[in-house]
Amino acid sequence: MHPFTYTRVASTREALDAGRRGGRYIAGGTTLVDLMRETVEQPEALVDISHLPLREVTATERGGLRIGALVRMSEAAAHPKVRTLYPVVSEALELSASAQLRNMATIGGNIMQRTRCTYFRDVTAACNKRDPGSGCAALEGHNRTHAILGTSDACVATHPSDVAVAFAALEATVHLLGPDGARTLRFADFLLRPGTTPNREQALRKGELITAVEIPALPRPLKSGYLKVRDRQSYEFALTSAAVALHIRAGVIREAKVAAGGVGTVPWKLPAVERHLIGQRPSAALWAEAAAKAADGARPLRHNAFKTELLTRTVERQLRVVGGTQ
Ligand code: SF4
Repeated sequence: MHPFTYTRVASTREALDAGRRGGRYIAGGTTLVDLMRETVEQPEALVDISHLPLREVTATERGGLRIGALVRMSEAAAHPKVRTLYPVVSEALELSASAQLRNMATIGGNIMQRTRCTYFRDVTAACNKRDPGSGCAALEGHNRTHAILGTSDACVATHPSDVAVAFAALEATVHLLGPDGARTLRFADFLLRPGTTPNREQALRKGELITAVEIPALPRPLKSGYLKVRDRQSYEFALTSAAVALHIRAGVIREAKVAAGGVGTVPWKLPAVERHLIGQRPSAALWAEAAAKAADGARPLRHNAFKTELLTRTVERQLRVVGGTQ
């Protein structure tokens, strides 16, 4: 591990000052410390923000829910409002990592976590994300767990977060605070596809801090849930996943929010699936027809063509679980 300085800040102002000077924010540290041990990341200055007052879950005036960036994953999953209003968020969190990690890791850290591509973590391998311009060992290497959507010639790594898939489905926003003030980004604009610069993963400006994730108000009743398909039943990342939320009134689907995980370089929103559902009556045939659009545009690699069919089946099953067949 390379030498670094460590500063714990007590106020947002102190944090922003340190961030402006190039300090790297750390809270739960469940990703960054691992990467520092492996010398994948070598920050010179760590700024511990874990004592900032960003640990509240609050209902918004607009009828949504605001989750502070430093709320622990386990706290968010267990929060009565999250459980009641957005089960898809609770389920995505509870299917992530281990209980110990969920007790440490924060919501802000979770959506910032870096890919699990093994070549990214192997400092002897070519990796454009870790070392821009060095190439991508995964393109010709073992790529069974890699992305089939949103890829580029520079990078095919998946985004590893589960709860980010739920946030993408629900069209959450990310609240940021930086040296130039506060701003809010749509979740879809916060995480970046790799393009030619896979080393740039979020639309953050220098020194900006995530303060909260906000889920918008959605029509009620809203049924929602998260399905994660993986090689083993716990402590494993998704091969495919589906976050689904449906508002069904008088037997007709009025609102549909659907996204997939484990298949995209970012959490993958499925607007074609959503459009196919709205205005229709739930039925087994409808779920199958809508899910058939989930893998539109997929570009499988040598070892992960199975994900195309698996994604379709994952989405179909979760539509059936959430929507039933009334
Ligand atoms: Fe690096 Fe992305 Fe290629 Fe993995 S897929 S080796 S993270 S450039």
